[in-house]
Amino acid sequence: MQFKFSDRLGKLPVYLFAEIDKLKSQVKAKGVDIISFGIGDPDLPTPKAIVDVLKKESEIDANQKYPSYEGLLKFRESVSEWYKKRFNVSLDPETEVLSLIGSKEGIGHLPLAFINPGDVVLIPDPGYPVYMAGTIFAGGIPYIMPLKEENDFLPDFSLIPEDILKKAKLMFLNYPNNPTSARADRHFFNEVVKFAKKNEIIVAHDFAYSEVYTGEKGNDSFLEANGAKEIGIEFHSLSKTFNMTGFRIGFAAGNEEVVKGLGAVKTNLDSGVFQAIQLAGAYGLDNELKAVEDNNKIYKKRRELLVGGLEKLDYKIYKSDATFYVWAHVPKANMTSKEFAVSLLNETGIIVTPGSGFGGYGEGYIRFSLTISENRIKEALVRMGG
Ligand SMILES: *Cc1c(COP(=O)(O)O)cnc(C)c1O
Repeated sequence: MQFKFSDRLGKLPVYLFAEIDKLKSQVKAKGVDIISFGIGDPDLPTPKAIVDVLKKESEIDANQKYPSYEGLLKFRESVSEWYKKRFNVSLDPETEVLSLIGSKEGIGHLPLAFINPGDVVLIPDPGYPVYMAGTIFAGGIPYIMPLKEENDFLPDFSLIPEDILKKAKLMFLNYPNNPTSARADRHFFNEVVKFAKKNEIIVAHDFAYSEVYTGEKGNDSFLEANGAKEIGIEFHSLSKTFNMTGFRIGFAAGNEEVVKGLGAVKTNLDSGVFQAIQLAGAYGLDNELKAVEDNNKIYKKRRELLVGGLEKLDYKIYKSDATFYVWAHVPKANMTSKEFAVSLLNETGIIVTPGSGFGGYGEGYIRFSLTISENRIKEALVRMGG
């Protein structure tokens, strides 16, 4: 039998990392000790107390049943209390918070709730690939908002043509940003709200790196902006906050109607998050914020080490103190980001992520993840200098 994939799968952008994945296996097979800056998954462990809650709660009979669709009220209350403490934003845990099987799940499903075929979705480029995939699966038309270094990787709304604005129903944003590490502040988010309200566009702010910063100042929430809750939601992940990527838990918070729409899609597709995991997540939000500080101290040291070392090697770095990424210009003028990543892997056994994998406007850059130890970073710098 020959099976043909659906047209919607055919419309997804080509997977640019396939060649590097293949080369990695070849280089590894030769016995090379590979150092990977390509991994967007924290190497640090989940705080032990969170794992202990999972263990204990998973033994309880009630937690072994189907969870409720919208998430345990206890988890949503912890989210709401944390938002109040952290951002001074009030959220009704009953109607303005929804548990997700990781934020990726919610981001991917959101367009199904609000996008009809032909509706436009505004998508940042470079960006997390799920905004594009979710849009295409819903039959929406992606419209690329370029993120450029001269604008600190913030989109310029004034460049979006009037006819696109008329058809635009949804906009994705992501700060602190993956892959560029750029931050956005309250002032920007106030502008976003004004623009979105004027044009009746739902804002979906991906705040996966909310708690990941290596400077003094924490990251601003979109929901802190004036009127944000009237026009949008924020996606959160416990993955990067508590090193819980494997647990699969996140949440959406904000506008009640948007939360309701996303919830309606999910009710028909999944049956919620394992309750023991929700209780572990709630415990984290209630009790483990100290662990976040400890993580950030580790990322700070790694960032200083890597950025300092790369600058000695004449790399040009976009300076930021948020996320666990370092966004650098390709140091060879005549190479694409992919060509450079391939040659670096061949010559030194070091993996970096080519910027073009995040969209056309990522070309000219490479991304380093700070998810490896200082010793490995030192070893990589020696290899790169040699
Ligand atoms: C890691 C990441 C996510 C997804 O995290 P989940 O594990 O699905 O919660 C979402 N957005 C960005 C930008 C990310 O880097």
